[in-house]
Amino acid sequence: MGSGSAGNATLIEASSGLQKTYVLIDCGIRPRDLDQRLALAGLEATQIQAIFITHEHSDHIGHAKSLAKKTNAAVWMSHGTWMASSALQWGLPPEQCNMARDHETIAIGDLCITPFTVPHDAREPLQLTCTDGDARLGILTDLGHASSHVIESLKNCNALLLEANHDEEMLSQSQYPYFLKQRIAGPLGHLSNTASAQLLAKLDHEKLNLVVAAHLSEKNNSKDKALESWSQHISLDTKLVGVADALKGCEWYCVVL
Ligand SMILES: [Zn+2]
Ligand SMILES: [Zn+2]
Repeated sequence: MGSGSAGNATLIEASSGLQKTYVLIDCGIRPRDLDQRLALAGLEATQIQAIFITHEHSDHIGHAKSLAKKTNAAVWMSHGTWMASSALQWGLPPEQCNMARDHETIAIGDLCITPFTVPHDAREPLQLTCTDGDARLGILTDLGHASSHVIESLKNCNALLLEANHDEEMLSQSQYPYFLKQRIAGPLGHLSNTASAQLLAKLDHEKLNLVVAAHLSEKNNSKDKALESWSQHISLDTKLVGVADALKGCEWYCVVL
């Protein structure tokens, strides 16, 4: 529903028979915009059962409080994120607040979410995989480098929403101040197109049949550059590949085995 520094939000649907489960990963976009984008999918915010916040940066948590109050959805985040964001003072009832931990699986309706820690400059950032028992989706939008823990945690994914933040050349030539360039390109910053492609190359491609580039910098990247970089490491013609738009997100994708 939105991807990048302007605000992140990813909606996951799992369905079994008549019952559907909706979980929102991050809520960095304004309630009005979220409502509009949900309406395009024929949904409304009250259908969201849980909000999983990956870390305290405002492009991920910025509008989570108002959504949690409006929907009464369960809120999940790491202890570090609760503390760093002061979210414990949002005034939510204790039963709505839940602590997520590395590799402790969370069951929400028909979805099981397994968070894992990532190297990023936040207090205790988590990214995740989730499954309905059959297909597995990985979400990895903010990380500085692909640690062995990250690679291990993404095993057996059928689909992946993966950060391709910047083109290294564009970032180094940009008007950004030196410290910011260092932060973004550093080991606790964001994945360059090349680093993202190298991470992809390390994963099991037998099962991976959908990859969507996410969290692209609007100033230091382009969709073409991200895909060009990926195409050097995976065979794009045999995969379904998409790019999430900063403001519109991406279309619905069905994660299949
Ligand atoms: Zn971040
Ligand atoms: Zn971010």
